[in-house]
Amino acid sequence: TDSDPPFKQLLSAVMANVKNPPRGDSVIYWMRMQDLRITDNRALAQASAQSQENNVPLLALFVLSPQDYIAHDRGARRIDFMLRNLRELKASLADVNIPLYVTSHAPRRTLPEFILSLLKKWNASHLFANIEHEVDELRRDIRVCQLAKESNIACAFVNDKCVIAPGEVTTKDGRGYTVYSPWLRAWLPHLTPKSGEDPLAAAARPAANPKSIYQNKIFGELFSIPVPEEVEGFALEDADEKERLSICWPAGEDAAHKILERFLYTMARYAQLGAVDPLSEGADSPTKNPEKNTRIGKYKDVRDRVDADTTSRLSPYLASGIISARQCIRATLELSGNKNQVVDASRDTGVGRWVQEIAWRDFYTHILALYPRVSMGRPFLEKFAGVKWETNEEHLQAWKEGRTGVPIVDAAMRQGLTMGWMHNRMRMTTAMYLVKDLMIDWRLGEKHFMEMFVDGDLASNNGGWQWSASTGVDPAPYFRIFNPYSQSQKADPTGDYIRYFVPELAKVRGPEIHNPPPTLADKLGYPRPLVEHAEARQRAIRRYKTPGQV
Ligand code: FAD
Repeated sequence: TDSDPPFKQLLSAVMANVKNPPRGDSVIYWMRMQDLRITDNRALAQASAQSQENNVPLLALFVLSPQDYIAHDRGARRIDFMLRNLRELKASLADVNIPLYVTSHAPRRTLPEFILSLLKKWNASHLFANIEHEVDELRRDIRVCQLAKESNIACAFVNDKCVIAPGEVTTKDGRGYTVYSPWLRAWLPHLTPKSGEDPLAAAARPAANPKSIYQNKIFGELFSIPVPEEVEGFALEDADEKERLSICWPAGEDAAHKILERFLYTMARYAQLGAVDPLSEGADSPTKNPEKNTRIGKYKDVRDRVDADTTSRLSPYLASGIISARQCIRATLELSGNKNQVVDASRDTGVGRWVQEIAWRDFYTHILALYPRVSMGRPFLEKFAGVKWETNEEHLQAWKEGRTGVPIVDAAMRQGLTMGWMHNRMRMTTAMYLVKDLMIDWRLGEKHFMEMFVDGDLASNNGGWQWSASTGVDPAPYFRIFNPYSQSQKADPTGDYIRYFVPELAKVRGPEIHNPPPTLADKLGYPRPLVEHAEARQRAIRRYKTPGQV
């Protein structure tokens, strides 16, 4: 229920934990797929401090769980990205004497028992992990707490994903917000130093870097067990695709920080589309006038353009925790050179707008934690539960493959297939098109994005889909339906984006690129639109206005 969500139950289980376990022989940090980094990692930092206090070695554990990936619609791209990052982590953790032991387990329902068996095998006194906010994961961790307690092992599950922990941003009467703007106004003060306080004392304070005492006799052999090359059932079979994705999304914390620096300190010259290493262009034009000319400086005005390189492209790194949201916020403080070090979340600076986007990520995770039914196939606004959807496999497939006959929708869907990532404005446009123009259930789109994207994050993906479907917290009103053709003119005024991803239209110049006349489309072998937008719009409004009606 909303009043006793699993997130709160986990916090209670942690509170009721073993407080002073026997010293044991080790401390364990259980790394999961959303915290793949060493720096500013709270559970890891706490585990490291505990192992130093106990004078015992620290071990990092990672359990591959294919059944979880199936249950959460994880695709091969995301799993491949995870494994590439785990390989980097294995090496960098070994540099600070921490073995990363990667193993796998099935069935998923016995994972808590499996974790406990490892804790006992290594005679661990403590287990540390960062909280995952998905319902199944919370329930699993509650069970781990219970089992550990029975064996007199201490467990800590801590907030790391969000800048401010879910449950901390509340209304005056202690309830969660469901509208973004007042939530943002309540979120910001948590990041604002009180007078005389260390500017980073609020939530953005970095966690300490970990280190460990190296005790060969206990964990020595674990240093040499390699990270598997693939997880069965999730291998990227196509070698070209594997290479393309590793070019688009280089692995490791260093890469993530370079991509952040590129966004903060360099100018965008042209759109980087397709299989381009984001860092290959890293040398381009450091600028002396950061607030004005950098990508972040221009973000306020051009972030909705898709024919230029306008956003940070950090989402895969944030979703897998390769960089933390706090690190991003801190970097903006350093950038602004503001002596008071107050986080800028204003609407009229590039930095401010970007911080607001990072805040959206927190917002949707707070919603998932406090209203978990959104992730269980329910609309947040129950009044839309009865909206009548079309069952049209042909239309759904055409949407997935980028063959709808609407150039901007097709370009975006093909960008998703090519890069495992899509620009935000295009996610909104393609989602709105599926739901309102094709009248296909948003849950099918949500699943497809999750499977396709390297940055799949349940909270943000669900939030984005329910926004587009008008069923979510603070959604687009159901009658405000995007016209894909005008979205196209605004987001891709040059047409370069469409020309790049839809080669059939590569030679079309001028405004026709946005909506090619039927004779031209036929000549170029480009499909005619699946539906007529104006008619589809009327149908959507009718069905939303009176759920249940056809
Ligand atoms: P930037 O513009 O540089 O923003 C910086 C960071 O802020 C992003 O990396 C992301 O972590 C966060 N952010 C930005 N916009 C949003 C937003 N609207 N909601 C939540 N966080 C945001 N984002 C995901 O990370 N994973 C998803 O699975 C995901 N699914 C989405 C599905 C739909 C239908 C929609 C409309 C949006 C979805 N988003 C998702 C949000 C957004 O589209 C991406 O975060 C953004 O496109 C990533 O590009 P960027 O890193 O260049 O973003």
